[in-house]
Amino acid sequence: MKLYNTLTRFKQEFVPIEEGHVKMYACGPTVYDFFHLGNARPFITFDTLARYLEYRGYEVEFCQNFTDIDDKMINRANEEGITVSELADRYIKEYYVDADGLNIKRQTYQPRATETMDAIIDLIKALDEKGYVYVLDDGVYYDVSKDSQYGKLSHLKLDELQAGGGERHASFEGKRNPGDFAVWKFKKEGEPYWESPWGDGRPGWHIECSAMNKKFLGDTIDIHGGGCDLIFPHHENEIAQSEAANGKPFANYWVHNAFVSIDGEKMSKSLGNFFTIRDIVKHFPYEVIRFFMLSGHYRKQIDFSDTLLEASQTGLERIANAVRNADFIIASGKLKEDGGDADEALIKATEEAGNAFIEHMDDDLNTADAISDIYKLTTSVNIAASGDVSKKALTQGRDKIMELLGVLGVKLPEESNDIPEEITELVEQRANAKKEKNYAEADRIRDLIAQKGYSVKDTPNGPQVEKL
Ligand SMILES: [Zn+2]
Repeated sequence: MKLYNTLTRFKQEFVPIEEGHVKMYACGPTVYDFFHLGNARPFITFDTLARYLEYRGYEVEFCQNFTDIDDKMINRANEEGITVSELADRYIKEYYVDADGLNIKRQTYQPRATETMDAIIDLIKALDEKGYVYVLDDGVYYDVSKDSQYGKLSHLKLDELQAGGGERHASFEGKRNPGDFAVWKFKKEGEPYWESPWGDGRPGWHIECSAMNKKFLGDTIDIHGGGCDLIFPHHENEIAQSEAANGKPFANYWVHNAFVSIDGEKMSKSLGNFFTIRDIVKHFPYEVIRFFMLSGHYRKQIDFSDTLLEASQTGLERIANAVRNADFIIASGKLKEDGGDADEALIKATEEAGNAFIEHMDDDLNTADAISDIYKLTTSVNIAASGDVSKKALTQGRDKIMELLGVLGVKLPEESNDIPEEITELVEQRANAKKEKNYAEADRIRDLIAQKGYSVKDTPNGPQVEKL
């Protein structure tokens, strides 16, 4: 598999440190609110990457953290008159509601920063022993000028970074370089704090991720992921601290997803142009949101609009209908043993779709083209289902669609599949009436079924029921 590596700026063949095993980290949510569509993109992207690596036979050890202490957490908790940890508990719970809905698998490790305090303090100690940090009145700072490789991820020179970063990090008096950043912030009145050798306080955001990486995955990992807005300063600083403290390379592949935009502008909390998943799910089911997100390549900006979500919904329904139709025909038990040409065509299409899917996913996780492969197979299944196909070939085609959707973590929409028990019974009574040539009774039952919101259609394979 090839992955685009931000560190080298090349699509590179993926070679894990340990054969057959992948260690992967992705920066998780800051749990002070519901997450929005822009936040969801990395969760879905790296979940899909993990699923695909597993599909290709790797054992994947995946860590995605919860940032549960920072300025945003403290401010929101104060606004709501609750503690920071109560706020974190609330929104971690809400994260799981949406993440489960989006079929984001629980990662191997899901640490909270506040539960990793020992590892954070150990890492700062290591930096301190090697002379990379210094203490000011408000905290402990990392000295970027001590690090000759600083800037290697964002591909900027130190003076450029400092020119750009100076404003971003409100310059504190005494900082040796404008780009120096706090690894530990001394406590302020009313803020939660932990004890440390430098004084009571709380960690900086960057050191949390470095420490959780080290604690759960070790000094060097295979893949580090996140949104492209995290390249600088967050990931640059993670690399700097980890490599300075551990004396080893931090992550071999840096994978970054592009933004979700609205009218060409980045969807973000600070711009106010965001939609939470909880809002969107009032109009579109979770599986459609996931399918929409994967319809674009992760390194390309994806524009959010109702029209595009509707298109994704129609597309997913089309796939779902093909699968349901195949299921119905297979269940009828009336298919031939040998489908001749129809079989040959479908078996070939099934094989080709499976191979093309892998080829596209191997090419830097090209989910957009991988979805086209599923569509092509859907068309072939539909054509075969209306012809002389055998049960074996149709089942294979149908199963391949489900297999490939599963790799993408996309579920089929459910509701139209749920025929209530009551309706199933009426359909049976009607079939019996017809068998007894009691057509008046059969028609009466058909009307009754229609009144209850379902249609029943007679097909060569038996009655087919659909929601009206
Ligand atoms: Zn991080």
